[in-house]
Formats: sequence, structure tokens, C-alpha cells
Amino acid sequence: MDNWVLMGPKTLNNQPQGELSLSPEQVKIKVTYVLLSNFDALCYAGELPVAYPKTVGRFAVGIVTDCGEKVYGVEKGSRVYIKGARPCGKCLHCKRGDTNNCEHIQIAGIDFDGFLRDFVVCDYRRVAVLPDDVDYLHGLCIEHVAFAENIYDQLHLSAGSKVAIVGGNALAFILAQVAMYHKLVPVVIDDSPVAVEKLKKAGVYYSILNDDDLDSNIAEATSGLNCDASVYISCSKINPDVASRVLARDKTLVLEGMASMKFKLDSIPLFRHNTRVITVTDGFGYTESAINMILHGAIDLNMFEKQILTEYNPSALFNDMLSDVSHGLKMTIIKLIF
Ligand SMILES: [Zn+2]
Repeated sequence: MDNWVLMGPKTLNNQPQGELSLSPEQVKIKVTYVLLSNFDALCYAGELPVAYPKTVGRFAVGIVTDCGEKVYGVEKGSRVYIKGARPCGKCLHCKRGDTNNCEHIQIAGIDFDGFLRDFVVCDYRRVAVLPDDVDYLHGLCIEHVAFAENIYDQLHLSAGSKVAIVGGNALAFILAQVAMYHKLVPVVIDDSPVAVEKLKKAGVYYSILNDDDLDSNIAEATSGLNCDASVYISCSKINPDVASRVLARDKTLVLEGMASMKFKLDSIPLFRHNTRVITVTDGFGYTESAINMILHGAIDLNMFEKQILTEYNPSALFNDMLSDVSHGLKMTIIKLIF
């Protein structure tokens, strides 16, 4: 029986769950797979503001084993994605029933219990049924795709626009694929030659090393015009000024914070170039759109090495991820057997 609870920085205990009761609008889910990511590793390390104690695990899928009597569209046996971002239920928007405009989106593993445990009981609106053609492994990437959709939606770019993505981790790769699906041209910049090579092989043509030739390589990729938007992956540890430097005037810089880390950004070039800066921290509200994209084959997970573990020590796995939190094109997946 598993329920991995973070009690404080680097203090993770397995505390079996007690009996779970079910209210009329709730479903009970047997968690089948959990994707461990650098977000969870940063929670484990105490780098993110976890309201201790919290069960770890932001990305999970499972199968519904029980339903309350007022549950609609989800039934016993449904394969589901468990949403890792939820409305708070307490702000004025939530109380008015307008949860899409919630003021305080809650994130699994920080604000409410995450999913590295045998069972989850939650409101049926906090899960999404997986269509037959979306397998569990793709289901684990729904929030990454939703995140990318959220960013795309805010950029208002026309086909052919060049989008710099500064950082070469799994989210960067999914962002690049979502960009290509929307007929944008991703330009991924990273400091790892291995990641750049992998991205190129996976079809991201403009994958550029962050070195002395960066400016000339960007000029070549953009016919000298610089990029139409730029997304800075905040856990990349690359100097964020790179993300503003590759932008043309009057464009948007997105600070991506799925696994947010502190950094300093020079404001002077932003003012000089009249740059609009926005932040994106979750894929809230984009779950259905992400599932639809996956269903249409927009996301190829083949470039990721995968390890699927049934016996595991989460602390050891997180410590391993923390040794290079910026990259990690390997998917570490826990299969929960019951
Ligand atoms: Zn709210």
C-alpha cells in the first residue's frame, strides 16, 4: 500500500491511507501510473512552496472503482486522467460557479495532496475520461500539452511565426511539437549538445546550442528578423536574458513556470524592445484541448527514454533528478500495483 507523503524538505514517508469515504459528487480512482518529474523533485528538495504535509505526484492516471450517485459522464471502469490543477473553491469567482476564472489555482503536491498513492477520491469534475485511443503513457503528458496550449493561446501568432524556446527539457520538446502542430516554427535553444542533437533527430529542425554562435544562428533561423515570441523554461538554468535577446521589438516573452525556479532578468533590454512579459504556471482549463491534440497524433513520445518501475524508492529517484533538474528527457513512471 502506497501513499508517499512529503513532511518537510527531503523527508518523504510512506503512510498507508485510511478508509476513504465517498460523497455524492465524488469518484474513487485506483491510481495506475504516476509520472515523476522535475516539479516533484523540486517539491521534494524544498525549492517549491509545499504546504506540508502533502502527498507527492502531480501527473497521474487511473481507473475509476467507485462513483457517487450524482456523478455524470464518468463511470466505474472509466480510465481517467486526474487533473493536477484545480480551482480553489473559495474565491469569489469559484463561489459564483465561475471556476474557470479562479483567483488561486491549486496545484497537486503543493496545495493539495498529489497522486503517488493507491487511491484518490475527488470531485468527478477533477478527472477527464481518456478516449480508447489515448493510452496511459500519453495520458501522463496531458498537463504538459495543456500547458503548451495555454502558452500558444496567449501568444496570438500567425502561421510561420518563429517561437524561441529557451531550455531543452521534456516540456520544451512538447512545446515545440505543439507549436509545429499549430504551424509555428519552434527554435529551441539549450546548453546541452546531447539535448540539441536529440531534438534535431526528433524533427525540431532549429535546435540551437547556446554558445558564441547563438546570435548568428538565430539570425539564420529567422532571416535576420529575430523571433516573434520567446518562452523561457525557468528550470533550464540558462541566463534568461537569452530569451529576451532573441526577440524582435514589440513581442512577447513567456516565463514558463511548471517547475519554477528563481532567476534574475535584466529589465533594460525589455524596456528597449518594448517586450510584453507574461507568466504561465499551469495548464488549467486546457485539459480537453490537450486530449484532443493527443488524439490527433500531435504528440510523439518516442524521443523520451522510459523507465517504468513497480519497485521504487522515490527519494532516490528525486535525488537522481536533482543532479540535473534542467534536462531529463527520460520519463520516470511509477506503476502502482494493488
Ligand atoms: Zn477560486
